[in-house]
Amino acid sequence: MTTQPAPPIPAGGAFWAGRWRSPVAVLEVHDPEDGRLVGVAGDCTAGDVDAAVSAVAQAVLHGPAWPVWQRREALHRAAVLLAEREADLARLISREGCKTVRGAAAEVRRAVETVRLSAEQADRLEGRTLPFGDTPRGEDRLGWYTREPVGVVAAITPFNDPLNLVAHKVAPALIGGNGVVLKPAEQTPLVALAFIELLLEAGVPADRVAVLPGRGATVGAALVGHPRVDLVSFTGGFATGNAIAATAGAKKTMMELGGNGTVVVLPDADVRRAARAVVDGAFGNAGQNCLSVQRVFVARELLDDLVERVVHLTSELVVGSKADERTDVGPLIDVASATRVESWVDEAVEGGAAVLIGAKRDGTYYWPTVLTSVPVGARVLTEEVFGPVVSIEAFDSVDDVVADVNGLEYGLQAGVFTRDIDSALDVAQRLRVGAVMINDTGDFRIDAMPFGGGKRSGVGREGVPFAVDAMTEPKIIAIHRT
Ligand code: NAD
Repeated sequence: MTTQPAPPIPAGGAFWAGRWRSPVAVLEVHDPEDGRLVGVAGDCTAGDVDAAVSAVAQAVLHGPAWPVWQRREALHRAAVLLAEREADLARLISREGCKTVRGAAAEVRRAVETVRLSAEQADRLEGRTLPFGDTPRGEDRLGWYTREPVGVVAAITPFNDPLNLVAHKVAPALIGGNGVVLKPAEQTPLVALAFIELLLEAGVPADRVAVLPGRGATVGAALVGHPRVDLVSFTGGFATGNAIAATAGAKKTMMELGGNGTVVVLPDADVRRAARAVVDGAFGNAGQNCLSVQRVFVARELLDDLVERVVHLTSELVVGSKADERTDVGPLIDVASATRVESWVDEAVEGGAAVLIGAKRDGTYYWPTVLTSVPVGARVLTEEVFGPVVSIEAFDSVDDVVADVNGLEYGLQAGVFTRDIDSALDVAQRLRVGAVMINDTGDFRIDAMPFGGGKRSGVGREGVPFAVDAMTEPKIIAIHRT
C-alpha cells in the first residue's frame, strides 16, 4: 500500500455572506475505508440557511453587477486552479469518499472540463429579436428577449462524485449570473468547501456564493422550502427527490436521480468489447454511480462466452485500499450500504439466482459480484443497487428486452452492443431512457451533453449548456411604437 500525505483540509466549516464561518456544531467526516477522522465541516442550521439565502438574494438583486466577461474570466481561472491542484483535490476526494486515488484524479479532470465548458457558455447567453410583425396585434411593436438569471439557485449534491456534481450545478449557475447556495452531501463536504475556496480565489464575488454543510433534513429541507430560493437543482436518490418535490411546491426544480442501467448484447456483438465495458461500467466506484451497469441481457448463443469473459475480468480486479494506485474497487460509503447490498444479493440467491463470482462482504467492502438466473422482480434487477453487483441473463427476443426495460421505474441511460447499425438504431429508438450508447454501456457521459432521464431517474436535463438554459429565463423587452 502507498503512504499518502494527508490532504489539505479547507480552512472554514461553512461560508456565507462573504466570510468563512465556524458553526458551533460540526459534522465529523470519516474515511469509509478505515473509519479514520478526515476532518470536520460545519453542521449548519435552518437559521444559517436563512442568513445565507438572504445574503445571496440581496447580492443578486441589489449588489453590484457582475458582468459576463468577469464571470467568464473567473471560471476560466477556476478551471486552471483545479487542474493545478489535481493531486491535492484527488487525495481529499479519495479520503472522504469512496473513490480510489485514480478514480478521484479522473473526477478532478472532469470537473476542470465542467468549469471550462461553463465559462465558454458566456458566448451563448444570448437572446433574439421577436417577430412581432407575425400577427396583426404585434405589427406596431419591436422587441427582443435576453436570458436573465433565475436568481438564487439551491444546489444539493450526493456523495458519489463530490466535486464534479457540485461543479455541474455551481458553475452553470454562476455563468448564468445567479447566486448559489450549496448543500453538499454530509459524507463528503470537504472537497465542496475546497471548491468554493478555489472559486473565491479565482474571482467569484464572495457575496454570490455560499456553502452550508449539514444534514439533509435540516439544511437541505430549509433550503428547498426557503421563499427566496428560485430554483432547486438536486442530484441524489429518488426518495429524497420525492421529499424535495413535496417541499418545493411551485418552485422550479431540476432533479438528477437514480438508475439501474441496462446493457443489451445482440447476437452479432463483439463480445470481448462488451465484456470489458460491462466490467468497467458495473464496478467503477464500487458501483456507486447513477450510470452503473446493473442488468445485462445477452443473446442466448453468446451467454457462455460473455459470462466467462466478464467473470474472468472481474476476478482480475484489485479490491483494496483507495490510496493504492493499483486498486480498482474501494469501499462502499458506509457499513449500512454494504449490508443493504449484501441483503439484496442474498434475497436474489434465495429466489434461485446463481453467484458466478463475489457476494462477499467485509465491513464497508463488498466484492464485485456477478449473478445469473436472477428471479424476475428481485431488487437487484428492479431497484437501484448502488453497489458492485451485475446480473447477466440470456434473451431470445429483443422485443422482450425492450418491454422489460420500458417497464422499469428508472430510465436513465442504456447501452447496446451490435455490429449492425439497423439493429442498433431499432433498439436505441425503442428504449424509454435519456440516452442510448451504441457499442458502449450507459456508463458514459461527456459534460456538455444533455444528461438525465425520465420516470424515477429525474426531471429535466443537466449537462452544462442545458443547465445554463434551465438556470436562466428569457426576459422580453418590447416597444410599442405609436
Ligand atoms: P441522497 O438522496 O441520500 O442525498 C443527496 C443529497 O440530498 C445530500 O446532500 C442529502 O443531505 C440531501 N438531502 C437528504 N434529505 C433531504 C431533504 N429532505 N431535503 C433536501 N435535501 C436532502 O443521495 P446519496 O445517497 O448521497 O447519493 C446516491 C443517489 O444519488 C443515488 O440514487 C444515485 O443514483 C443518485 N445520483 C444521481 C446522479 C444523476 O446525475 N442522475 C448522479 C449521482 C448520484
